[in-house]
Amino acid sequence: TLHLEAMSIFDMGNKLLENIRKVNFTGASGQVQFDASGDLIHPAYDIINIIRNGMRTVGFWSNYSGLLSTISPEALYSKPPNTSLANQHLYDVIWPGETAQRPRGWVFPSNAKELKIGVPNRFSFKEFVTEDNGTGSIKGYCIDVFTQALSLLPYPVSYKFIPFGSGTENPNYDKLIHMVESNEFDAAIGDIAITMSRTVTIDFTQPFIETGLVILAPVKKHIKTSWAFLQPFTLEMWCVTGLFFLIVGVVVWVLEHRINEDFRGPPSQQIITIFWFSFSTLFFAHRENTMSSSGRGVLIIWLFVVLIIVSSYTASLTSILTVQQLDTSIKGIDDLKSSNDPIGFQVGSFAQDYMVKELNISRSRLRALSSPQEYAEALKLGPKEGGVMAIVDERPYVELFLSTYCKIAVAGTDFTSRGW
Ligand code: GLU
Repeated sequence: TLHLEAMSIFDMGNKLLENIRKVNFTGASGQVQFDASGDLIHPAYDIINIIRNGMRTVGFWSNYSGLLSTISPEALYSKPPNTSLANQHLYDVIWPGETAQRPRGWVFPSNAKELKIGVPNRFSFKEFVTEDNGTGSIKGYCIDVFTQALSLLPYPVSYKFIPFGSGTENPNYDKLIHMVESNEFDAAIGDIAITMSRTVTIDFTQPFIETGLVILAPVKKHIKTSWAFLQPFTLEMWCVTGLFFLIVGVVVWVLEHRINEDFRGPPSQQIITIFWFSFSTLFFAHRENTMSSSGRGVLIIWLFVVLIIVSSYTASLTSILTVQQLDTSIKGIDDLKSSNDPIGFQVGSFAQDYMVKELNISRSRLRALSSPQEYAEALKLGPKEGGVMAIVDERPYVELFLSTYCKIAVAGTDFTSRGW
């Protein structure tokens, strides 16, 4: 029931195509004409700038040059194509607001509220961030990072810093976080560690510095280098070694003196030989010949023992004179956990909660310390005299601290890794 026979077939397609290919007129986008392969000849466009209801041509784009240009395509066709980017140029665009200045994007209206940014008013390690007592301005490394980052934004941000904390003691950073959470501050910047519990309530930017908790402990007593050569062995070990030298001397003498001319002579001479022989084996420098096979057996075993003693002595003396000068008596976090001595932390730091909650260290063992001077004092006194056995703090503070205080070192490796 479609009556297909009633439909007629248009069989002049070729003719239509031919006619289309032959067109040659000037349309809204310029000349319309096709080449033999059916492509538009010299396609080109006007680039217009729409201003309210009107418009203005700021230049052209043409396939001939492939560039934006202020010269009309027709004028270009008479010249050889110049596709150098240096020729790319348009007239100025007039942007909303009747300005030729390219907009930077989102602009704060002049009556917008400033962002209230809380910054810790630090008392110690002021290099990171603090309020300048003289001018009242906020300065420090963290502020420098912040202002540098802001200058990279494609739009301006108006903000004001609000110092948090009395300035006579480091503020509690968790309270600062809490004030951001409760919208008293729009944001906070500073040496704020990104911890698990804080990320639950607020968002952090990418960290700008790496940090992690480390243990700060006094270095072991410095070795008096003039007597350092005795340190590799304990007194006991020295005595036993000396005794063995004599025993070996006597044993070799017993085995040799009946058949060996070298071990004979008046008694005093023989005693000297025993001593001389046994101690010269220390340097493998004995001259006396051993003749009996049992004497040689004893000697060869003894020389092997001497080899071991000498090499371990050399090795430990070397390490004592180098590494151990910076060694601490605490090796890692396990030494802190197993002891009952007080541990220091920085006032306001998350380290306190971390030690109590994650490491199960009793809160009564923790001592709040507020300044590098207090750190040094507490470590110097030691746990017996009201000080602390070690301090747990973040790497950047510790590095700043160590740049001025010696006889204190970082024990073990960082046991958490975070960022600010
Ligand atoms: N950076 C530490 C934190 O985020 C605070 C350091 C301090 O207590 O001064 O908790």
